[in-house]
Amino acid sequence: MPRIIVLRLGHRISRDKRVTTHVALVARAYGADEIIITGDRDDDLIERIRKVVETWGGDFSARFEENWRKVIRRFKEGGNGVVIHLTMYGLHVDDVIDEIRNSNRDKLVIVGAEKVPPFYYQNADYNIAIGNQPHSEVSALAIFLDKLYEGRELHFLFPKSKIRIVPQKKGKKVVTLQ
Ligand code: SAM
Repeated sequence: MPRIIVLRLGHRISRDKRVTTHVALVARAYGADEIIITGDRDDDLIERIRKVVETWGGDFSARFEENWRKVIRRFKEGGNGVVIHLTMYGLHVDDVIDEIRNSNRDKLVIVGAEKVPPFYYQNADYNIAIGNQPHSEVSALAIFLDKLYEGRELHFLFPKSKIRIVPQKKGKKVVTLQ
């Protein structure tokens, strides 16, 4: 299975705590393997994500990386990776998603925060728009992954979870597994 790594750019502790947490939660819940966060170092955020994985399972991991150029360089060095930058200025997702899905290459999916430097537009293999209107890195990532997996990710089971939800018509039912 090709790996899916999300690169979250320009995290600012003061402003992006919630949004970056949501990017990480979406990345995990929608089938990515890892998130790499650049910008301000935020160990509390990494720890919160680790605790989510401990409770809810799966092999998702999160780490901080100071040098984002190094992330892209290393990813490309492997030779089997495709760099995908989500931006409203890119090609419409529906025009390229089949080609991306059919490729067996690992995927580095980049989402921004504030203004994204031209480097990313130039060095991405794909600049992809989830529609050409401005919205959010959280929604862009969720929709991209959902289209990539064609909705199957919403049925994934996460191994080694401590709890699991039993869907209910009304109310909440959670079972403890370990
Ligand atoms: N003004 C910023 C820029 O120069 O790209 C966009 C800021 S937006 C709040 C943060 C991130 O959300 C973007 O970097 C992009 O990854 C994602 N995003 C927002 N709208 C998008 C869209 N229509 N398609 C794909 N990604 C989008």
